[in-house]
Amino acid sequence: MARSLDAPAAIRAVAADTGARPGPTWPTGRTCREPGCDTRLSIYNRSTACSVHEEVRRFIVRGRRGMTADDLGIETETRRIA
Ligand SMILES: [Zn+2]
Repeated sequence: MARSLDAPAAIRAVAADTGARPGPTWPTGRTCREPGCDTRLSIYNRSTACSVHEEVRRFIVRGRRGMTADDLGIETETRRIA
């Protein structure tokens, strides 16, 4: 009868991975706010930009004050990566 414990445990682990997780989530099907970027955002991503564009903006804000990704023409670069 010891084996009967294995199955329920495995099923529970899978369910916990794919489904109901406590904490706030966001609607599915959202895309990056960057024009032309079709990257879908995770429901756990509270940002409105994909990780690529979010990181680019953060880096620029730190490195060069007042400059945006558009000013530097970075959008084209990141789109290729994404
Ligand atoms: Zn993006």
